[in-house]
Amino acid sequence: MQRNRLIALVILIAATAAVWIATHGEVDQANDPAFSTHWKCSKCDHTFELLPNERAEALKLKGSPPILCPACAGQFAYQVSGCPTCGTLYFGAEVPGASGFCPVCHPKKRQPDPEPEVPGEIRRPVANRN
Ligand SMILES: [Zn+2]
Ligand SMILES: [Zn+2]
Repeated sequence: MQRNRLIALVILIAATAAVWIATHGEVDQANDPAFSTHWKCSKCDHTFELLPNERAEALKLKGSPPILCPACAGQFAYQVSGCPTCGTLYFGAEVPGASGFCPVCHPKKRQPDPEPEVPGEIRRPVANRN
């Protein structure tokens, strides 16, 4: 019977390991502050951090991003980047009115103007007349 007990022990260890991986694998990362993201409200300038699971939850909101700001309760918070030079948190170019550059290091830098959209104008494909 010694052999059966050994097999049972191996199965028990494997099952324990599988449960540990299932419960500790992704869950740990979702709650790991090292993977948290910075957010800033474009209305009240409140900045806050979200853990990966909180971020995923916030982005379930209809029309997000922006997501809800915990300070003013408005849906105006966008994810911000930290400037590698001075550490300032700033909005990406996807945020209305933001340049997408660090306002401290590049106060005058702007995104190139988007091509003006003329409603009604349809660009006709160039016909290949041969
Ligand atoms: Zn706010
Ligand atoms: Zn900077």
